[in-house]
Amino acid sequence: MTHINRPQLSKVPVCVTCGTQYPEAERMEGCPICQDERQYVGWGGQRWTSSAEVAAGHEIRFEDAVGVMTLQLSPRFAIGQRAFLIPQAGGMVMWECLPTVTDAAVGRIAGMAGDGGGVQAIAISHPHFYSAMLEWSVALGGVPIYLHEADEDWVSFDSPYLRFWDGDRFPLTDAIDLVHLPGHFEGSSGLLWKNGPRPGGSLFPGDAIQIGMDRRIASFMYSYPNAIPLGRRSLARLKAKVDPLAFADLYGSFEGKEMIGDAKERVEASFARYEAALEG
Ligand SMILES: [Zn+2]
Ligand SMILES: [Zn+2]
Repeated sequence: MTHINRPQLSKVPVCVTCGTQYPEAERMEGCPICQDERQYVGWGGQRWTSSAEVAAGHEIRFEDAVGVMTLQLSPRFAIGQRAFLIPQAGGMVMWECLPTVTDAAVGRIAGMAGDGGGVQAIAISHPHFYSAMLEWSVALGGVPIYLHEADEDWVSFDSPYLRFWDGDRFPLTDAIDLVHLPGHFEGSSGLLWKNGPRPGGSLFPGDAIQIGMDRRIASFMYSYPNAIPLGRRSLARLKAKVDPLAFADLYGSFEGKEMIGDAKERVEASFARYEAALEG
C-alpha cells in the first residue's frame, strides 16, 4: 500500500460504525477496532462504505471552538469526533482526523495556510480516531502522521508517512508536545499546546480524559460505549502522566466539550472523585 494514491484510497473500505479506513483485504475479516471490547459491531452487523461515498453525503464543517479551528462531518458520521487545526510557525498541526476528505475542505485549509506553509503534521490520539489518516496525509501533500508506537499494531496500512514516537513526551513543534496518556489504549496520547490559544496553555487529551456534560468534571474510561471503567492501577498510572503537565484549558474529542479555565485543578478533582468512587 506504500504508493496508494488518493483516488485509490477514496474507494477502499471504511467501517460505517467507527469510520476507519482499511486495505481491501479487511473487508472479509471485519473491522478489528469494532471487534475490540472497547467498541462494538453495528447492531445490523458489519457494514462498509468508502470515503468517496461518505464525502458524497456529508460536508466538512469548519467552526471556531473557543479559539481553536475545528473540523467535523455534517451530518454526523461514525464515532463523530472532531479534528483541530492548530496554527504554528512552521505550518498548522492537524490534531485527530476524520473518516473522509473533501476537495472543499482541502481547498479551505490551503486558503488558511497564510505564510505558515500549510499543514506540517497530523497527530492522532488513539486508534478510534485513525479514521482516514492516510488519505488526509496524501491529500495535504504527503504530511507525516505522528502516532504513539504502543498502538502500532492497530495501524492497517503500511505508509512512508507514518512516524511512531515513544516515551512520555515528544516535542512536535516549539510550542507543542505530544504526551503519553495510557489507559483507554496503551498508546493513548494527548497534545499539549504550551502557550495557546491563551496563556496557561491547553491539553487536547483525546479519549484519555473525557469531559462530563457539566464541563466541570472529567472521567477516565477503558470503554465509553460499553461503560468499562479504568481500574485502580491504570488510573494511578494515567494520573502520574498528567501530574507534570501544565494547562489551563482542556479541549475534548466532541463538539462543545471544552473546559475553559482552571482545567488542571478540575482534572485533579476529577481524579480524586474517581478514586473516591472506587472506594465505594
Ligand atoms: Zn469499525
Ligand atoms: Zn476512544
